[in-house]
Amino acid sequence: MQQVQATYVDATWAVGGGAELEVGSAADGRVLARFRGADAQDVDRACAAADRAWDAWAATSVGERAGLLRATADLVAKRADELGAVASLEVGTPARMASTVHGHLVAATIRDVATTLESYAFEERVGTSLVLKEPIGVAAAITAWNYPLYQLATKLVPALAAGCTAVLKPSEIAPLTTVAFFEALAEAGLPAGVANLVVGTGAEAGEALVTDPRVGIVSFTGSTRTGARIAELAAPGITRTTLELGGKSASVVLDDADLGQAVSASLRGCLINNGQTCAALTRLVVPRSRLAEVERLLVDAVAQLVTGDPRDEATDVGPVASAAQRERVLGHIEDALAQGAVLVAGGPGPVDGAPAGGHYVRPTVLRVEPHLRIAREEVFGPVLCVIAVDSTEEAVAVANDTDYGLSGAVWSGDPDRALAVARRLRTGQVAVNGGAFNISAPFGGYKRSGYGREGGRFGLEEYFETKAVQL
Ligand code: NAD
Repeated sequence: MQQVQATYVDATWAVGGGAELEVGSAADGRVLARFRGADAQDVDRACAAADRAWDAWAATSVGERAGLLRATADLVAKRADELGAVASLEVGTPARMASTVHGHLVAATIRDVATTLESYAFEERVGTSLVLKEPIGVAAAITAWNYPLYQLATKLVPALAAGCTAVLKPSEIAPLTTVAFFEALAEAGLPAGVANLVVGTGAEAGEALVTDPRVGIVSFTGSTRTGARIAELAAPGITRTTLELGGKSASVVLDDADLGQAVSASLRGCLINNGQTCAALTRLVVPRSRLAEVERLLVDAVAQLVTGDPRDEATDVGPVASAAQRERVLGHIEDALAQGAVLVAGGPGPVDGAPAGGHYVRPTVLRVEPHLRIAREEVFGPVLCVIAVDSTEEAVAVANDTDYGLSGAVWSGDPDRALAVARRLRTGQVAVNGGAFNISAPFGGYKRSGYGREGGRFGLEEYFETKAVQL
């Protein structure tokens, strides 16, 4: 079992004063770490350290900050295999992609922030005024359990780049890669107090962090419910918030699309990280005239998937992160079947051959009507909803008929037609014919998927105040 200290404050590791926490393995349920989490007093110490360190950090040069971030990126890249192995256990990410998404992608994102910083114009003349960008102060970052390090690279890292100091609270369900990241920050030579870590629960550590008067901005990734709570807690202090929340993203297949390509890419886009992805393409909207063909393709594709131990290189779909999450996903599937959804592939049964004690769910495809709960709520597991429509107009209406607006995809043989539909989708990002994810592009939600943007210049700018000096 790993020894974990819950707080890293002023460059010193210490045990937390809060409740006892356990981190479990998604693969087989065994306990990976047991430790006391951070409490409100730990958060107070962390915010005080960040506040003290701020003046000196804000005065560092762009070159110094970019250099420290690049050194950190190199250390993350060096430890990518180890970070991937830990994430396979605590998140359930299949080994084949774990060191990429929890290691190399994180390093690339940190380098991208450094590059953005180096070319950023901190000052501009607007008529007779000089407009200055200044770091807000202490930034609080709160992350979810599905991609802990990628989220940290799009919150904590741009905050530090901007000249803010920071306190990070990762999810208590999967904090171990974050602990390793802070070791890398220390090794890279980040000055004491600039980045501080508190591993604790939302109730004990999260609320204390959001309401701390020294915090100038809270950047949050997690569920819409918790996001609403954070906005409410931040409001009395007029503390800024950026909220990256849930999604129910649609992949819209037009009648002239290459069906084989669209269906296999959409299924991958749904099942990535075992469905534990906020931008997962969980609704597949298809022309009714091609529904039978689509379902045949899905049945074949699901039959070829290897579901099981995330440590096995052959695995395509691993477990979800916790027993509670597994129960939630299975509950959604059972409820959908009871409400009339048609099972196309998978289902609520056990995964044959998977390690005992792990949190496995069979990749499941359901044909549903758009009003069903499973077509409207975020499931956060390996479940795809297929919805048949009779026209492009109806496809757009169904895709937009959701509380969420995080992501989406459009498929058509005519790229202009696909782009025209992409323009009509009420979401923060849309992929046209499999357009690749871009770490420098803005990422964030419309509607209840949140507000604020991460990535590239857009993410950096969240951490600035803007001052106009009249000359
Ligand atoms: P969650 O909302 O339960 O928890 C997220 C974080 O908030 C954790 O660190 C948790 O401890 C903390 N927290 C909980 N209650 C809090 C409170 N009252 N005050 C302060 N902090 C509190 O989410 P989760 O289950 O960890 O993650 C899954 C959710 O995250 C899904 O809804 C998913 O869509 C979303 N997500 C969104 C994005 C995005 O970029 N939009 C990315 C990944 C995940």
